Amino acid sequence: MKIRKGFVSNSSSSSFQCEYCHTYEVDESGDYGMFNMGFVECKNGHTICISHLSDENRRKYEQIGEDDEDFQYEPLIESHDCPLCQMELIKDSDLISYLLNETGKTKVEILKEIRKKAVDLSTFAVILKDGKVPEPIEETKPNDFRVIDLD
Ligand SMILES: [Zn+2]
Ligand SMILES: [Zn+2]
Repeated sequence: MKIRKGFVSNSSSSSFQCEYCHTYEVDESGDYGMFNMGFVECKNGHTICISHLSDENRRKYEQIGEDDEDFQYEPLIESHDCPLCQMELIKDSDLISYLLNETGKTKVEILKEIRKKAVDLSTFAVILKDGKVPEPIEETKPNDFRVIDLD
C-alpha cells in the first residue's frame, strides 16, 4: 500500500528557492513536495522553477508528476535537461563572478565607484533603473532670497 506523504505524522514544512530567478515558496505542511510546489532539482543539485525547463522537458517531467497519484514525486532531472547545467541560463552569483573577473576589479572597488555616483540606495535604484545618474535637484541659489533690510 502506498502512503501519501501528507499522512506522515511528523511531516514538517519545507521551502524551495529557484537558483535562477530566486522565486521562493514554502510548503507549510510539507505534504506537497518540490514538484507540486513548482520546482525541480537536477542531478548536480540545482533547484529551479519547472517553468525554466524547455517546453519539451517540462512536459516530460510534468507527465511523470501527473502519473504519480501519491504525491511522492521528487523529480531529479538529468543535467542535460537542466538549463543551468547546459548554460542556457546563468545564476546571478556566477554572472557577478564573471563580470568582476572581466573588469579586473574587486567588489569593494566597484562599490566605491558606485558610491561616487549614488550616495544612498534610492539614488542607486534610479541608476539601475534608468542606467544613468539622476539629475541633481537644483539648489536654491542664495540670491533667490530677498534679504530684508530691517534698518
Ligand atoms: Zn525560477
Ligand atoms: Zn543543473
